[in-house]
Amino acid sequence: MNSPKNNPVYSKNDNSKVVLPDEEWKKILSPEVYTIARQKGTERPWSSKFETSKEVGTYYCAACGNALFKSDTKFESGCGWPSFYEPISKAAIIYTPDNTYGMRRTEVECGRCKSHLGHVFDDGPPPTGLRYCINGVVLDFEKAKEAEKKYNKDTNEDRKL
Ligand SMILES: [Zn+2]
Repeated sequence: MNSPKNNPVYSKNDNSKVVLPDEEWKKILSPEVYTIARQKGTERPWSSKFETSKEVGTYYCAACGNALFKSDTKFESGCGWPSFYEPISKAAIIYTPDNTYGMRRTEVECGRCKSHLGHVFDDGPPPTGLRYCINGVVLDFEKAKEAEKKYNKDTNEDRKL
């Protein structure tokens, strides 16, 4: 897990925006997450275990717990970073123009805490044609098992009615 337990803003249920001074982030995030999320760093390509992962579940922001992507929108882009063609919801992501390094790119940030996640490019697969190229360090993954169990239980209860 990338998230330290002493992170008071980390929540998978609370959607309220997180605004913290930089020194607070530095205290509550691991150095790896802090460098990418708050200093717009980039992890080495091919370094993330999520890059080739095919596990079914949900990817969350490692800084605040905001749900970002579902595994069924993940695809193998070959670019060296975990890649998705669509965020879990429109509000999950914030888009910012990034013209650093002489390139015109669009930066993607977490919609809840504005942590830097990566960039979005328009060379992705259908149906969106987009490629969200995301640093695995700022992703927390949760397998679908728990959610599916709950779903199946709910469905069975519905059938009884
Ligand atoms: Zn976040």
